[in-house]
Amino acid sequence: MAKDLGYGDGYDVSFFGEEFGAGRLIQIISDSTLLACMSMVPKSNSRVIVLYLKVVSLTSSQVGNDSSDPEYCCSEDDDSSDPDFEDSDYAQSDEEIDLLKKDDKWLEGYVDHSCTDNDPNAEENDESDNGEESPTLTCPNSFSSEDEAVGELRRKKNRMPKSEDFRPEVDMANPSFKPGLKFATAEIFRKAVRIYSINCGRELIFMNNDRNKIRVVCEEGCPFVIHSLSVSGSTYLQAKTFNPTHVCSKGSKNIHATASWLAERYSGQLRLNPNWTASSFAEQVYQDYGYRPSRATVYRARVMAVDIVEGSYSKQYEVLWDYCHELRTRNLGSIVIIKSEMEGDRPRFQRIYICLVACKKGFLDGCRPVVCLDGCHVKGPHPEQVLSAMGVYANNGMFPLAYAYVENESNSTWLWFLELLSGDLNIRNSQGYVFMTDKQKGLIDVVDALFPHAEHRHCLKHLYGNFYLEHRGLALQHQMEATARATTVPWFHAEMRKMLELSKPAHDWLAEKDPRHWSRAYFKTDPKCDMLMNNLCEAFNHSIMDVRDKPVLTMLERIRLYIMLLMAGRRVFCEKWDGQVGPRIRKILEKNKGKAQWCIPKAAGQNRFEVMHHSGRNFAVDLNAHSCSCRAWDLNGIPCLHACAAISWFHGNPEDFCDVVYKKEAYLRAYEPMIMPMTSQDQWMKINLAPLLPPKYHKQPGT
Ligand SMILES: [Zn+2]
Ligand SMILES: [Zn+2]
Repeated sequence: MAKDLGYGDGYDVSFFGEEFGAGRLIQIISDSTLLACMSMVPKSNSRVIVLYLKVVSLTSSQVGNDSSDPEYCCSEDDDSSDPDFEDSDYAQSDEEIDLLKKDDKWLEGYVDHSCTDNDPNAEENDESDNGEESPTLTCPNSFSSEDEAVGELRRKKNRMPKSEDFRPEVDMANPSFKPGLKFATAEIFRKAVRIYSINCGRELIFMNNDRNKIRVVCEEGCPFVIHSLSVSGSTYLQAKTFNPTHVCSKGSKNIHATASWLAERYSGQLRLNPNWTASSFAEQVYQDYGYRPSRATVYRARVMAVDIVEGSYSKQYEVLWDYCHELRTRNLGSIVIIKSEMEGDRPRFQRIYICLVACKKGFLDGCRPVVCLDGCHVKGPHPEQVLSAMGVYANNGMFPLAYAYVENESNSTWLWFLELLSGDLNIRNSQGYVFMTDKQKGLIDVVDALFPHAEHRHCLKHLYGNFYLEHRGLALQHQMEATARATTVPWFHAEMRKMLELSKPAHDWLAEKDPRHWSRAYFKTDPKCDMLMNNLCEAFNHSIMDVRDKPVLTMLERIRLYIMLLMAGRRVFCEKWDGQVGPRIRKILEKNKGKAQWCIPKAAGQNRFEVMHHSGRNFAVDLNAHSCSCRAWDLNGIPCLHACAAISWFHGNPEDFCDVVYKKEAYLRAYEPMIMPMTSQDQWMKINLAPLLPPKYHKQPGT
């Protein structure tokens, strides 16, 4: 077609479809899109169509049939590349993204609650020694016998000048020496020397095994030396002499590069990549340090690393009872439930469900009765799933409600999760509730069975994902979206007819799907929520992305901390609102007010108006009932363009006509409850229950 217009190959031809596709460019890829384009132009003496040409490397027909649609990506993990299909009315606002970034910064400095000293009295000692120094908990790099030494160090640190102490948890990765530097024990000193030796590429030698005096030298003739002496009356060792100069050259092997060092050094990478081959592991070591460890060493290191990783994962299950007790005690009224099965005399972990009382109260008092559900994978030696339930708060953003850690996503886990949630929310009759789910078959069945009177929406993005398998092309995508966005039943049918003109198979596919699950025309008006997509759960999944490979307790605590900071931040955020409603709602109102200039309101009396749109269509607006015949206002509770036109007739403020669910008061009710600060493991009460075993290994689909 571009060729016919004199442009040659390599151009996309599009037209601007105001009515046809929610006001965006629609590419002409077939005769039917061209006909649809023509039919849009008003019939008059002079017919003008503005066509847009875009340079592409492929011809337009190739673009239309391309199997990978760059505009649309429906993979679970990468949802960032489809701006066209976002439900922009329900997303994180810029302010909130800033807020979350700030949260991320707070989280960066976050110290793992699960890693504690072996010495339970360390905290008290610290405080009695020096009340003003706040105790710092740090996560030791290893789980070796040095934990003991760290505890020792902590008890003594207030008596020693801090700047001259070697801090294993910080300095061990890249140790350096200077005269006067103190080491808590001889073992820490030796380990620091061994790692220093590996890092500098020289095989350093310990000259004596005396606890009170250690001398470290390089090969014969090299002036390098570290000389250290014990500090009398303590386990401390202090460096006295340090000459870092080498005249020797780097070696290609190192006696200190042992399997246990390799295991400790690379356990993090091995955890992320359990299928790392021995040869590429050895290659990595060579690139990092210039040594090529033997095959046997690599194998031993891998076995040891697995033990380190799994040990740290399994260890966290053992204290899960204590964690739950502490969580419940600090957040009275929260529901925290562990499901386990007995194996001999030890219980084996199966699932955990957490609904914090602040989330529950905030949801019931300040959010709409809308629950979005989704699950996401957890990596690591015990691959599991995090199931989550999200609400929608006044500014159309994500409100965390409950989450669970389960073995997989199935009928039985969703049933377990939703039965608990239903009990928490006290849902006796699901009438009035809306549940938003993705495409998981198990979940859809469970929601239908458990909440038969609720409205059950299927995420449009996932529905399109299935549609796309058989019916491709931008025109079809836009037509499907336009059909879902139509707010009245007659308009819905009109859009379906347009779909039929574009493609009969696509129309028939869509006609089979119950429109009550995906079309606004069939959504109920009570919940004041016209959400089509499950963006909110995706926002939550995204926010826990970087903790998904962490051990169970670390992950649960990071989620709780994230929610705590989110709620605290948003409580403050509300003070910056200019009017009665949040920034995202204001934006929608501004858009509607802008479009209202194309309308002429005619007052009928008693706050009722007949609003004439320039397209020739008339709308009946009732300001008392917050209703317009286009149904948009009824659906989401925000005055539509016709209502805005009517309100402007008497110079009213559209914000006054927004539903109460969007007002500041509702927002504050949602964020008033507080998630209480949590303590670290050393302060938890020990629950007299047999420690939990880690869950059985469950292979996750698609991993
Ligand atoms: Zn040397
Ligand atoms: Zn309207």
